[in-house]
Amino acid sequence: MNAASHPNLLGLDRSELEELARKLGQPPYRGRQLFRAIYARRARELPALTDLGLKLRNELGSRYRIGYPQIRQRFSSSDGAVRYLFELEDGERIETVFMPDRGRATICVSSQAGCAVGCRFCFTALLGVKRNLTAGEIVSQPLAVANDQAMARGVKLNIVFMGMGEPLLNLPAVAKAVRILTDKDGPGIPWRRITVSTAGIIPGIRRLGRESVRPKLAVSLNASNGEQRSALMPIDKKYPLGDLLDACREYPLRPRERITFEYVMLDGVNDSDADAVRVADLLDGLRAKINLIPYNPGEEFPFRPPPLARVVAFETVLRARGIPAFIRISRGRDVAGACGQLRLAPLAPRG
Ligand code: SAH
Ligand code: SF4
Repeated sequence: MNAASHPNLLGLDRSELEELARKLGQPPYRGRQLFRAIYARRARELPALTDLGLKLRNELGSRYRIGYPQIRQRFSSSDGAVRYLFELEDGERIETVFMPDRGRATICVSSQAGCAVGCRFCFTALLGVKRNLTAGEIVSQPLAVANDQAMARGVKLNIVFMGMGEPLLNLPAVAKAVRILTDKDGPGIPWRRITVSTAGIIPGIRRLGRESVRPKLAVSLNASNGEQRSALMPIDKKYPLGDLLDACREYPLRPRERITFEYVMLDGVNDSDADAVRVADLLDGLRAKINLIPYNPGEEFPFRPPPLARVVAFETVLRARGIPAFIRISRGRDVAGACGQLRLAPLAPRG
């Protein structure tokens, strides 16, 4: 079956599938059935959809397909995480990380093939950006992983847009994927369990704030002042720290919701008590929490993670100032699957 002549149904939302059913002379509930089959039951083949009736099934089967990306490789970490290497239909490759946790799981998805933002500590940046992913390519990552892991429907699943790419530079596809993932007739994942992480694309944050179905927002802060931040994240020159925090202050939060700030800790660069005090000042008045992520190292960059005692001291300063702070040791480090390590590494590094 050929991709051009048989459009992919994976990536269409409920109303698009209802519209398709209508075009094929069927009532809208058939579209809903199709939506449920693709996204709730995770069906991979159209002929398997026996509940649709023979006529519709044959018609769909001769004209459309359910096209999943191919799993090229799996890299299993000693901590239980699995890094998946997917090949898309045009040959581009992306990565997704599965992190099981006692009856729950988190799946870290990519929003772009590579990334254009160029943060100075992130290995995905070394790839540059190839292209945006489609909504179908985004939702198919958790679906394919759930199928591969034979995941039961009841498993509590968190989705984090913290894989390759900058999600807010591909917001239309990301927003559509979120609509599909949260749909009760589909995967039915509550918005509270989906997080979009951004390097600080201000217009994207404002647009996300206006979406009808909105995930949680995480912002990669990574520095305690503008000078430090623009040295680490060149995007800060375009969207400066002060403006970014203004956009965060104006972001429409729901009851009990907070913005998560991520802070990659780099030894001797941004990890002093003075940095922690400045971070506390920056976040003053914001409904925020902060995740401290010790840097995951690699050869190309000069940084090191701080000693754990330094990370704990930093956390203590923030907490003393009333800011909920948490240390997040990345999973999947031994298979190049941790934060910032997604770079299509063919083999897991040793050690
Ligand atoms: N582009 C988005 C989401 C993907 S990056 C963003 O930047 O927010 C996900 C997280 O990994 C970000 O918070 C980023 O700061 C962090 N990160 C990048 N490189 C890292 C590294 N080498 N070690 C630890 N965290 C890293
Ligand atoms: Fe892109 Fe995020 Fe990596 Fe920065 S940290 S280069 S925005 S993936």
